[in-house]
Amino acid sequence: MTERIESTEDTALTTTAEDLQSIRENVRALCKDFPDTYWRETDKKAAYPQDFVKALTESGYLAVLIPEEYGGSGLRITEAGVILEEINHSGGNSGACHAQMYTMGTLLRHGSEEQKRRYLPAIAKGELRLQAFAVTEPNAGSETTRIETRAIRKGDRYIVNGQKIFISRAQQSDLMLLLARTTPYSDVQDKTQGISVFLVDMREVKGNLQIRPLDLMVNHHTNTIFFEDMDIPASSLIGEEGKGFRYIIDGWNAERILVASEAIGDGHWFVERASSYARERVVFGRPIGANQGVQFPIAKAYAHVQAADLMRFDAAAKFDRSAKCGAEANLAKLLASEAAWEAADVCLTTYGGYGFACDYDIERKFRETRLLTVAPVSNNLILAFLGQNVLKMPKSY
Ligand SMILES: Cc1cc2nc3c(=O)[nH]c(=O)nc-3n(C[C@H](O)[C@H](O)[C@H](O)COP(=O)(O)OP(=O)(O)OC[C@H]3O[C@@H](n4cnc5c(N)ncnc54)[C@H](O)[C@@H]3O)c2cc1C
Repeated sequence: MTERIESTEDTALTTTAEDLQSIRENVRALCKDFPDTYWRETDKKAAYPQDFVKALTESGYLAVLIPEEYGGSGLRITEAGVILEEINHSGGNSGACHAQMYTMGTLLRHGSEEQKRRYLPAIAKGELRLQAFAVTEPNAGSETTRIETRAIRKGDRYIVNGQKIFISRAQQSDLMLLLARTTPYSDVQDKTQGISVFLVDMREVKGNLQIRPLDLMVNHHTNTIFFEDMDIPASSLIGEEGKGFRYIIDGWNAERILVASEAIGDGHWFVERASSYARERVVFGRPIGANQGVQFPIAKAYAHVQAADLMRFDAAAKFDRSAKCGAEANLAKLLASEAAWEAADVCLTTYGGYGFACDYDIERKFRETRLLTVAPVSNNLILAFLGQNVLKMPKSY
């Protein structure tokens, strides 16, 4: 294990180091039952890691963001991040189930009491899954306000037509958080208006909801979804009609901190694998790690992962204190995903040809961690946020 920098002054305000350590140890212990071979086989078969998600749900760790009154443990982003980090640090892939944490804020902050009472206790118990978050469309990736999927109110129902792309785990979820236009783009002055969020209970929809799996570089259970006169109750609407873009933005800081945490877990995994291999692999009569050309890139990647880790804790602590944390959350996501990718690249180089052999798991994690620089938000958009909102330069798009 690499040495960790565990907390900043700010972190101490929200969570004790002992609490975090105990969460880490419990999640590590759970992950021990799901070794490299489990994730490798799951990846090879493009299967869903059902047993892992079941174990995580039963442990209560997937429901930590659900308040106690609804059956969860009422913990915060700091703890949630550490859970996802430990899953990735163990060699696993929290992408299999992270959406439940990513989307929770929208439901908690903007959902009605009736929606919360109806769904949260069942999600906490593992009877229901909220694992799908449907935003991206063929004509609207980074430019979310361009979404074209329409939801039109007809009495006490909404009729939904349109298409989503890259929607993960729709087949492994009961509920889907859906972003749709209730007023067309051309009819609104402020393009962030006229967008609404729905909590769609996919077990009960009428009309046509078609889910078609996409064949991707990563085992992420990602789909194209078609809505053809999909008929949902008006009670699926979260908050006020037309205000959904604001609700989703509110959740972005949490999402960025959670993604950063996953990346930190990956970064540590790569650094540990690389340094361990560099100590053991003997070429030209000595361990390859004795060469500065091998050793220094690993040390540098470690330094970058550790620095990103501090930024993540800083952002999480601010988020948990309800302080402004847009800059910190974006910095954490950028730095952590880049540090993890650097560590992945260095690790692959350290392993030489063996890095490409599936049995070593490097290539699998290499693919998985690369995703974090692109989804759920591309790092270019993070830079645009920093350039515009923090450094006050002109809007670049
Ligand atoms: C495996 C996987 C799982 C996913 N899961 C989900 C999911 O569950 N739900 C969901 O809604 N979406 C999901 N996505 C979609 C993901 O969020 C988008 O792919 C991502 O936000 C980027 O959008 P895009 O692919 O349309 O890229 P585009 O918006 O087309 O951008 C393409 C490139 O151009 C760059 N770019 C665009 N505009 C600018 C600009 N103004 N300045 C600088 N650079 C710019 C982008 O940064 C990017 O590098 C998933 C994607 C993948 C690959």
